[in-house]
Amino acid sequence: MLHNIQPEDHGPLGPEMAKAVSTCVHCGFCLAACPTYQQLGQEVDSPRGRIVLMKEVLEGSMQLDDALPHVDACLGCLACEPACPSGVPYRDLISPFRANSEKQRKRSLMNRFQRLLTQLTLPYPSRFRMAAKTGRLAKVFASVLPGSMRVMLDLLPDQLPPRQSWKERYPAQGKQRARVALLTGCAQSVLDPDINTATIEVLTRCGVEVIVPPKQGCCGALSWHVGNLHQAQHFARQNLSAFPSGLDAIVTNAAGCGSGMDEYPLILKGTKDEAKAVAFSQQVCDVSLFLNRLGDLPEVPDSGTKKRVAYHDACHLANAQGVREEPRALLRMIPGVTVMEIADAHLCCGSAGTYNIDQPAIADDLGKSKIESVLATQPDLIATGNIGCMTQLGNHLSKAGEKVPVKHTMQVLRDAFAG
Ligand code: SF4
Ligand code: SF4
Repeated sequence: MLHNIQPEDHGPLGPEMAKAVSTCVHCGFCLAACPTYQQLGQEVDSPRGRIVLMKEVLEGSMQLDDALPHVDACLGCLACEPACPSGVPYRDLISPFRANSEKQRKRSLMNRFQRLLTQLTLPYPSRFRMAAKTGRLAKVFASVLPGSMRVMLDLLPDQLPPRQSWKERYPAQGKQRARVALLTGCAQSVLDPDINTATIEVLTRCGVEVIVPPKQGCCGALSWHVGNLHQAQHFARQNLSAFPSGLDAIVTNAAGCGSGMDEYPLILKGTKDEAKAVAFSQQVCDVSLFLNRLGDLPEVPDSGTKKRVAYHDACHLANAQGVREEPRALLRMIPGVTVMEIADAHLCCGSAGTYNIDQPAIADDLGKSKIESVLATQPDLIATGNIGCMTQLGNHLSKAGEKVPVKHTMQVLRDAFAG
């Protein structure tokens, strides 16, 4: 697409944004893949429409306020990327655009408070745990609270699992085949810490030494996707220094965290840490991909039970990291498991970081549709690779009165190994 963007006017992220815009040929192949276009039915809420809006703001021919409602409605699910024949790197446009817009945009007092609350709690496990406990108590006052606060309270689980902590090192069982470091995640380690325990158990059983760096922090994805570049850079730098060298991989088990860490080179673009971020991101690998690359995995015992497992593709695993077949292959290793394919698997479940807080109506519609498609497979179990999706699917299952368990792929595999 021809444009008049002056990259140097938009800081270190300007050239990336201009390049993404120039790659788009306006063909429209991405429209059918976009969940918000399907929901809202307007060109301005499609990838192509948003690219044009952002281009015009960057060129100075459109007011930021006119574009923001449609840019804000973007899930950042990246379903448009694999659908695009020209290879438009949409992620290089949407998050930098949001980061640059933050300096100019005006927010209501309530919106500022809501953002502050999520950004000061979600990325910090102890604060998040405390906020979740306090929020549960505040649910009795929900009817007198503003709508956005009620949405946040609704999303809180009724009960948190007991706190878990992890040692700094877990030796491989048997002959050591690899050495990795694990990102334990922030919200995940509060909402379902067993995912990390299961991941460590599976990796060590497969001959992998696992390091859990004690000084690691949030991956920064939550901050990055809502335009808080400063906080995203802080977390990226913290992790650059927390993770040791001499690893075969930096393993993630939350799709959002993995894709966030993949984007460290963009987050730290034009800073003195950029080269370090490039080397770091090259080591980041989702656990399902790592195990598939490792190969020659131990045999899973046959429990004699048959299970239909619906596998839900987390957007930040399938679209952002291109990891689709690997989790399915791990599930198929389990005797008796049939992996069920969900219709319209490319459509986001509506979780998308803090999207279900920021855009509750669209998130709710997407959650309902996803659950209908999942239940159509008549599953005994739902597996996925992202805590945000697990929470969203769990909430919508419970609203629908369904009790199908939702587990992380690592939990399914760990349980199957245990027999
Ligand atoms: S990231 Fe998702 S919601 Fe946003 S334009 Fe792309 S497909 Fe649509
Ligand atoms: S498919 Fe790619 S090139 Fe075509 S309109 Fe969408 S983003 Fe642009």
